[in-house]
Amino acid sequence: MSPAGPGPVGGARITYLDNAATAPLRPEATDAMAPFSAGRFANPSGAHRLARDARQALEEARDEVAAFTGSDPKAVVFTSGGTESDNLAIIGSLAALPARAAPPVVVCSAIEHDAVLETCRAAAAGRTAAPAVELRLAPVDALGVLDLDALAGLLDERVALISVMAANNEVGAIQPLGAVAALARELSPEALLHTDAVQAAAFFDLAPLLEGYDLVTVSAHKLGGPKGAGALVARGVPLVPLAFGGGQEQERRSGTQGVAGAVGMAAAMAAARASRPSEGSRVARLRDTLRDGLLGAVPDTIATSLGAPTLPGHCHVRFPGIEQEELLVLLDDAGVCASAGSACASGALEASHVLLAMGVDERDARTGVRFSLGWASDEADVAHALAAVAPAVARLRGAA
Ligand code: PLP
Repeated sequence: MSPAGPGPVGGARITYLDNAATAPLRPEATDAMAPFSAGRFANPSGAHRLARDARQALEEARDEVAAFTGSDPKAVVFTSGGTESDNLAIIGSLAALPARAAPPVVVCSAIEHDAVLETCRAAAAGRTAAPAVELRLAPVDALGVLDLDALAGLLDERVALISVMAANNEVGAIQPLGAVAALARELSPEALLHTDAVQAAAFFDLAPLLEGYDLVTVSAHKLGGPKGAGALVARGVPLVPLAFGGGQEQERRSGTQGVAGAVGMAAAMAAARASRPSEGSRVARLRDTLRDGLLGAVPDTIATSLGAPTLPGHCHVRFPGIEQEELLVLLDDAGVCASAGSACASGALEASHVLLAMGVDERDARTGVRFSLGWASDEADVAHALAAVAPAVARLRGAA
């Protein structure tokens, strides 16, 4: 286990394989944020020297987010994370559209994170500050990849916004952003393009992927930065703010900026950039060892999205005959932290809308477990998980 990973608790080994939920802080982020908990505390909007110092740090962080996404620094709006960025992208851009005779159409994939899906549903129900929209959900195939033919059938000149994630948070399937942009240019030339790149940002050079995209969501804590920090990159798109106040972030997001969070996010991004692409290859090798080991050791294992391009750290598997919640408890007892990939704030598990959209039936969807590896994962983590999963599944199947 990496020295920066979670340490032993009560002497037992703890293996953290839930990086898609949140990644451990990178030491570069911890170090970069430290001064902002002490002497560099000023409000970046002030006029005195301490405020100028904080402002300079914030603008340097903005430059890094801009470089990370291949954007102009002026496009970067600091937010509290991926959820707020998705909300601002969707509601803020729709609310800024000129009035139209017919409701604008929003198209998003059926496997978006709830931060996008629920925002689009709220907009469709007229529950947001934006005018009510018509929502069209684009289906995915059995591997969790957007069905481009079906998407083409949903696009027309009424479409005002298309939102497709760069990679799925549950199964890791990478989405064809370039093809989506090409279809949009052809069939819905006026549509704004948004992508939630929260998961893809940990491993990929986003700049080439984002060509043609007007709105891009990133979140710090998925790539080794702090929780509660994120950004929306809005390239030449007017936004109506979600909250009114001091007009920070060029009137796009009021509220005193969280300088430490922005600085920590920038440091994590710089570290992720510097370790690319070798970190991704290393993590993918570990993930492959884990997945192949599970397929070999646990009878009837189904590797979800196997055969699709996936994020390097994602290993989503289904073990027919078990209940995911029971398996996660046994794994937790054995010191292995994994997840089902979808949980509401209460921690209760529902059948995953992502798996259902992939055509997995509700019973089968409840047998899925996501092991997600990250920058701090190592061979010992994989060995521990492999040793823990087979007996836990056998025990549950024996008890069935
Ligand atoms: N979008 C995706 C794809 C995610 O995986 C997550 C987090 O799980 C979010 C958005 C929400 O990000 P945050 O936790 O920063 O609000």
